[in-house]
Amino acid sequence: MDDGQVTAVPVIAIDGPGGSGKSTVARAVAARLGYRHLDTGAMYRAVTVLVLRAGVAGDSAEAAQLAQSMTLELGRSVLLNGEDVTAAIRALEVDEAVSSVAANPAVRANLVARQRAWLDGGRGAVVEGRDIGSVVFPDAALKVYLTADPRERARRRLQQVGEWDPGRESVPVEEASALLSARDDLDATRSSSPLVVPDGAKVVDSTGRSVEDVVEEVLSYL
Ligand code: C5P
Repeated sequence: MDDGQVTAVPVIAIDGPGGSGKSTVARAVAARLGYRHLDTGAMYRAVTVLVLRAGVAGDSAEAAQLAQSMTLELGRSVLLNGEDVTAAIRALEVDEAVSSVAANPAVRANLVARQRAWLDGGRGAVVEGRDIGSVVFPDAALKVYLTADPRERARRRLQQVGEWDPGRESVPVEEASALLSARDDLDATRSSSPLVVPDGAKVVDSTGRSVEDVVEEVLSYL
């Protein structure tokens, strides 16, 4: 895989664990700069929807085949093979299964190629995920590793999913926290592109801070 891509398009890579505030901060930074925004987690979630529906294992060749043959459009809504899965990708079953799908190297290779192709020829971009600064765009103009206290991350995640799936607002914070930390462990210990602090990344802790404050810190590094 080409891991030394040099690109003329300015990229801001934002990586970090679940609930660290990546999506909110990435969107706000993109809006401030007039850049495009790509949520790569939504791509892994979309493949997971297909994997769950097909009843195949995340680490199987069938899972990779599903990734390869899908059409995926990410905009205001997420269109998977023409179907709006914006809410479906936030379901609890997807949260539980996504890390095993994301550990499949062939799925990753397919999605990384789509992420690089998405950038080609475009204007500046803010790209968020787990391996953006380390693998997908190692030459990014700015790499940020966003983190936050685990309980705060669990609380944010519950709020976020509550917008998609109101039934989940009633999940106790302990349960959300356990699910999130199981996912973090899988993401950080897998052999293919684990979650790491990329070389040269600015580590930003968002615990107890407003979105505006974190966005200002990120912009200050440009
Ligand atoms: O960011 P989000 O929590 O939606 O990501 C869902 C999952 O997708 C992560 O837990 C991780 O397993 C996977 N992921 C990844 N690489 C990325 C983005 C997400 O492995 N660049």
